[in-house]
Parts: sequence; C-alpha cells; structure tokens
Amino acid sequence: MRKNLSSLLVAAALAATAAQAKVTDQMIENDARTPGDVLSWGIGQDGQRYSPLKQINAGTIGRLVPVWSFSFGGEKQRGQETQPLIHDGKMFVTASYSRIFALDARTGAKLWKYEHRLPDGIMPCCDVINRGAALYDDLVIFATLDAQLVALKQDSGEVVWKEKIDDYAAGYSATAAPLIAEGLLLTGVSGGEFGVVGRVEARDPRTGQLVWIRPVVEGHMGKKFDKAGNASDNGVSGTPGKTWPGDLWKTGGAATWLGGSYNKKTGLAYFGTGNPSPWNSHLRKGDNLFSTSTVAIDVKTGQIAWHYQNTPNDGWDYDGVNEFITYEDGGRVLGGKADRNGFFYVNDAKTGQLVNAFPFVKKITWATGIDLKTGRPNFVPENRPGDPTAGADGKKGSVVFAAPSFLGGKNQMPMAYSPDTRLFYVPANEWGMEIWNEPVTYKKGAAYLGAGFTIKTLSDGPIGALRAIDPKTGKIVWEAPNNAPLWGGVLTTGGNLVFWGTPEGFLQAADAKTGKIVWKFQTGSGVVAPPVTWEDKGEQYIAVASGWGGAVPLWGGDVAKKVNYLEQGGSIWVFKLLK
Ligand code: CA
Ligand code: CA
Repeated sequence: MRKNLSSLLVAAALAATAAQAKVTDQMIENDARTPGDVLSWGIGQDGQRYSPLKQINAGTIGRLVPVWSFSFGGEKQRGQETQPLIHDGKMFVTASYSRIFALDARTGAKLWKYEHRLPDGIMPCCDVINRGAALYDDLVIFATLDAQLVALKQDSGEVVWKEKIDDYAAGYSATAAPLIAEGLLLTGVSGGEFGVVGRVEARDPRTGQLVWIRPVVEGHMGKKFDKAGNASDNGVSGTPGKTWPGDLWKTGGAATWLGGSYNKKTGLAYFGTGNPSPWNSHLRKGDNLFSTSTVAIDVKTGQIAWHYQNTPNDGWDYDGVNEFITYEDGGRVLGGKADRNGFFYVNDAKTGQLVNAFPFVKKITWATGIDLKTGRPNFVPENRPGDPTAGADGKKGSVVFAAPSFLGGKNQMPMAYSPDTRLFYVPANEWGMEIWNEPVTYKKGAAYLGAGFTIKTLSDGPIGALRAIDPKTGKIVWEAPNNAPLWGGVLTTGGNLVFWGTPEGFLQAADAKTGKIVWKFQTGSGVVAPPVTWEDKGEQYIAVASGWGGAVPLWGGDVAKKVNYLEQGGSIWVFKLLK
C-alpha cells in the first residue's frame, strides 16, 4: 500500500513537471510580460522586442561578460539570422541549412540537434538562413528551406510531425519563425523572385493539419478545412481582375516571407507581403493587391480584415514584408512599420487607417512623400525603371538610379519598440541601385524578375544607422552610424538599453534615450540576428547568434565588395553580469 502510494506520488510529480513544461496559449499571450522565458519571435506576439528586465543597465553593464558560446559546427556556416527561444531551462535555436539545436540555457551544453535533409534543388533567394522556431505544448516547430514544417519534441528532438507547405521545385521556401495565435500555427511562404503565390496558412500546431489558407494575391480562392482535412472554399481574396491585368495574378508573388505578428486586442494577425511578380512593373499595370502591403487577417476566420498597400504597383522590389509592431497610444492600438521603401508607417491596428508616414532614411527617390489623406505615395514617375518594349531594341528599358536599393531602408532585421521611451529603434541603411527592366515570361522554377540591378553606395561614409524614431513626430531622436549595412535585429529593455549587432561582429548596447554606446563585445563573425534577454534564478541573460551572411554578400553589388573582408561563422553567445 505504502509503495503504491509513493509510486503514485512520484507519477503525479512527474506529471506535474511535464505539465509545467508545456507551453500554453496563455503563456504565449503573456510572453512579453514574463521575463523568465522567450516563447515567441518578437519576444511577445506583438513583436515589440521589449523586456522589462533592468538588472543590466547603464550602471551595471560594465560587468556584462560571456557565460558560454556554442558553435553550430560543421562547414554549414553562412548567415545566422535566428532568434533563440528560451523555455524551461532550454534554449531552442535554429541555424543555417535548416538545422535546430536544443541547448542547456545555463551551460550551453548540447541536448540534441536536428538537421533537416535538404534536396539539391532548393531555391532560397537570400542565403540558406532561418529566423527561428515557435514553441507550443511540448513541441518546437520550425520551417525549412525546402518549404516544409517540422515539429519536434522539446525534450528529445524526436520528430512528431512534418508537413509540406509547397513545392520547392516551383521556388517555394520558408525561413520565417512561425507565429502562434489563438491556438493556431501561422506561417507564410518565401519565393517572390520565382512567381509563387503569397499566402498565410493556419494549422493545428499539435498535428500540423491545415485549418485555413488565405492567399494574399488578389483573385485566389481561400480555403478552410474540417477536422477530417476536407477542404472547402472560404471566399476569394479581393476582387478577381481588379488590380491585375490578364493572368499575371496566377504567379503574382507577394511572398509573406518574414512571418507575422499578432495583437490580442484586435484579434488580427499582421503579415507583410513582398513584391508583385515579376519585378518589371510595366507588365502588370494596376495596384497588384495585396503585394507590398500590410495585410491584417482575422485569425478565427482566415479572412482579410484590412490591408494597407505601402508601394502600389511596386517597380523596385520594395517588399513590404517588414514587421508590423503593435503598441498602445492612449486608448488606441497602433502599428508601426519601417518599410523597405524608406518610409515609416503608423496604421490603426484595428482598421488599417493611415495615421502617420514619414521617411526614416535620408534619400528616397521613388516618391516625394505619402499623402496622409489618401494613404497613397506621391510617385516620382521618372524614377520608375523604364518599359523595355519602349526601347529601341525592346530588350532593356531605361536605367534609373533609385534609393533605397531593393535591399531596403530596412530589410529582415526586426526593429524594437520601448513603451518606456515610446520610441522605435530601427536598424536602417542608406544605399541605392541602378535598376532596369527586361522582357520576361514565367517558367516554373526559374527566376521571374524581368529586371537587372546593381546596388550602389550613396557615399564613402557609413551605410548603416541604428535610429531612435518617434512615431508621433517622425523625428529621428538619435542615431548610431555603422560602416557596414546593419542586418541584425534589435532588443530594448527596462534597463533603458538598446542592444543590436553589427556585420563587423560587435554586439553592442546604447542608452535608449541618448544613443550613447555603453558596451560592446566582439562575437567573432558578423551579427545579422536579433538579441534576446531573459532571467533565470535572479540573473539577467542576453543572447545573440553570430554568423555573417544573408542577402548583402550575395546581392550587394558595390556594397558587397566593401564588406567582403568580413568572415563567416555560426555560433550563439550568452552573457550575464559578473558577480
Ligand atoms: Ca516571456
Ligand atoms: Ca522580393
């Protein structure tokens, strides 16, 4: 009897431990306010990348030292754009070539590794990167370069389910961290340079089974699925034929390649969408919805609640995928977005109404501003790359010099918002490009651009700048210039600090109010990832991945030549205060 009772107690204790380790919807909803863990990309569904922790501050940061570092190993270096997740004493971190590691968050000891078997024919546009995983229940879930989703047991790395998002041979891939909202796993697709159809999909995170699909190219039919997996129509996105000529919508791009954010108060998930395909805008006269937009989707129904288009009829590859970070202003929920096209937008998160728009980079050539009444850009027509069919030989349109370059005033590196300073911290870049159009026809699995380009520097000075931006006034409150283009994300804390990494290899911190740099550490390779922070047993930790790569060395033209001395790597660094 006694033995039975004690074994029952042991079983109950084990069950309690297991239950405690499970990640619930409520834990994910509270993630931004629970500094003991980091459960989501963005450190909270709204993506603010703000932590209330303040043990590390301007007064103590002189004692911030490395605790451990872990190498992702092998020859699979290249860009490491990942954001680690922290839960139950473990760190879950993805790496280049669709790998994921579970590490002991205190010691860096390796618990398990999963290396996805990638086929030869994958077509990632912009390096073999991955941006991070999602946690749900006892699973850790991430997307792969061959456009699959893999869910593994957090404690063992055992694969629980695998689902194909789409055909990698048609140019689909996936690199974003999945978003969990209202018990659903929300993912997008990459492949806007191959004429894919951008969309957002919702799945049951426990099984991988589809719940709904919402295409973000006007004219495509949405789908919903019953428990048995049977599909039915869920309404067409937009009005067929309205903003696209002919059949071009069938391969219309608008890839949702950076993933999304969610606001509990609005019940809406926000996904940015990439360029319409092909790049040659003369082939697709019209606005080409819902490309280069912020698209707000009702998570419960899978319907588009509103959209706001940043670059109608985009002709410069100004993917509008940039993260839409929601924040409170008075009683209102607003969202901020630093678009690749060089303008910073503030929209009402519930209705999409444009509240403010202003440049966050110094040189913008394609538009003179954004009309706050109509919400539309004031285009500079002569800055649109020319129509090749208007040229003498019909092979190349007029070349224009455009700024920003298509690598953007900001690219994939997520900014942060501090509710303390009420400022956005934006990793911005100043650069331009020569761009021209060429004839093109769609061919499955082939690049579908109809354009050529060379990225150019604007000066001999710094390209990057971390900018503190007031969303109300549009003022740049301070900036910290950087020689190389910034490509890593940002973290801000209750300790009045802003952390970000540089391609030159430094993780650094500045005073959030003044921009004065108060700490830096050389990680051994370029930082192109966002840092995170958490606390454990009363100590505050900071972590960031190091590993130079991403789009700049591949597509950066004259800028790539300027940074080709930077070394590759692949590791994660963790810091805390020396006692
Ligand atoms: Ca948390
Ligand atoms: Ca693109």
